[in-house]
Amino acid sequence: MSLTMNITPPADLPEFLPGWVWLVGAGPGDPGLLTLHGVNALAQADVIVYDALVDERILSMAKPEAERIYAGKRGGKPSPKQQDISDRLVELAKDGKRVLRLKGGDPFVFGRGGEEALTLVDAEVPFRIVPGITAGIGGMAYAGIPATHRDCNSAVTFVTGHSMTGEVPDNMDWKALANGAPVLIFYMAIKHIGRIVDKLIEAGRPSDEPVGFIMAATTENQKVVTCTLETAVETAEQIKPPAIVCVGPVVGLREQLNWMSKVAELSASEAAE
Ligand code: SAH
Repeated sequence: MSLTMNITPPADLPEFLPGWVWLVGAGPGDPGLLTLHGVNALAQADVIVYDALVDERILSMAKPEAERIYAGKRGGKPSPKQQDISDRLVELAKDGKRVLRLKGGDPFVFGRGGEEALTLVDAEVPFRIVPGITAGIGGMAYAGIPATHRDCNSAVTFVTGHSMTGEVPDNMDWKALANGAPVLIFYMAIKHIGRIVDKLIEAGRPSDEPVGFIMAATTENQKVVTCTLETAVETAEQIKPPAIVCVGPVVGLREQLNWMSKVAELSASEAAE
């Protein structure tokens, strides 16, 4: 079924001026999670520098003549150096292009948006930041797991499972982290899940605590598996990146809040009619 939408966007969405860079979050995957600012950016950009986690259906909303530059990892090759990407943005803007830097999720959440924006500041290139829905919140919602729930937690911590060197961030205070908030939401944690689980249990998190893995959240390949800290390492064998790992009592709410399975049931029964 396709839906024709007769929507008039707000008239005061900004004009994308030549020589500007817009750093835009594309959300976790589902194109419906793009913001109006994101759509407005796509409609005007001359060049789009995009990452691996940006959905093709989002890119297809760009002007047909817009140049597309891929800045993510491909076929196991290392990703372009961060400084090279930032320099490219400066170069394109100085050429008078409307440069859309499109990133998965939110550009300022483990997305190096800050680094790129700092390079733009140094080069005196004007820019705008368009936040996106981050995987650690939107992906969780698509799994039926609220990031906060009044009965469970009044704080939540976002953690990267990867340091700048690609290792488990050893310089983190794992004890403080483990004891700081009842809910921990990890990005980039699959590779080092064993070390992470050990550190959390060592720091006092109970081994029977619920854990949720949300892989390719909000896309058609979304897969959600729940387990406990004790069984997390073997469970992770079924999971490939990109995935979010949530540790804490909110994971249990999925049993009741898994709305996606209802949507899937509904569309299956519609298809059968
Ligand atoms: N800026 C992004 C995060 C980039 S870091 C954001 O705000 O979401 C890349 C990590 O994000 C991945 O390793 C994974 O942990 C997470 N991620 C991004 N998209 C995801 C998705 N669709 N499903 C699950 N995890 C995702």
